[in-house]
Amino acid sequence: MLYCFQLFSRNHLLPNCETTLSKILRDVLRLNVGFLLKENVGYSRKISFEHPLLEVADDLDLANFRGAVRLTRTVQGVYAQGKFLGEESVECVRCLTPISQTLQSQVEQLYEFPPDPNADFVVSESGHIDLASFLREDMILSRPMRSLCKPDCKGICPLCGKNLNEGACDCVKEDINPQMAVLKKLLGK
Ligand SMILES: [Zn+2]
Ligand SMILES: [Zn+2]
Repeated sequence: MLYCFQLFSRNHLLPNCETTLSKILRDVLRLNVGFLLKENVGYSRKISFEHPLLEVADDLDLANFRGAVRLTRTVQGVYAQGKFLGEESVECVRCLTPISQTLQSQVEQLYEFPPDPNADFVVSESGHIDLASFLREDMILSRPMRSLCKPDCKGICPLCGKNLNEGACDCVKEDINPQMAVLKKLLGK
């Protein structure tokens, strides 16, 4: 399936969609670790990821997805340890300009084998572990409290809708400073 998606060039979004990237599906996060189960305790293997656009979940697409996970055979199963980064396309909460923000996930998780039916993280009977659900949760938790295009974004004028980062508008605004309001009253204005 092909998706039109804005490419990120470091911190800048290209104004128009100039490239069509094929979206990689989350299946790549489902890893076959069967080979690891045959190895001795302590054996490990590192797997690297790099995808221009990855669907981590139905509600999370990340551009420039990159990272690596080290999988180690332990007595209890397979221990996964790694770090992932990706960029999410959002709007500045003040001025609504499209921006990209970097999300990250630190994976440190034991996947049990043989699989315990009550455990959340297990190596499946077919020898797979799925990093997708863990990654989604962790990436979403790493979102900034407020997404801003820049720390001092001036936002948009509530009256005319102009982006105030591009300059002031002609709207007359009421002075909302309460001390100034009191002073004005005292002066009879
Ligand atoms: Zn902004
Ligand atoms: Zn205005």
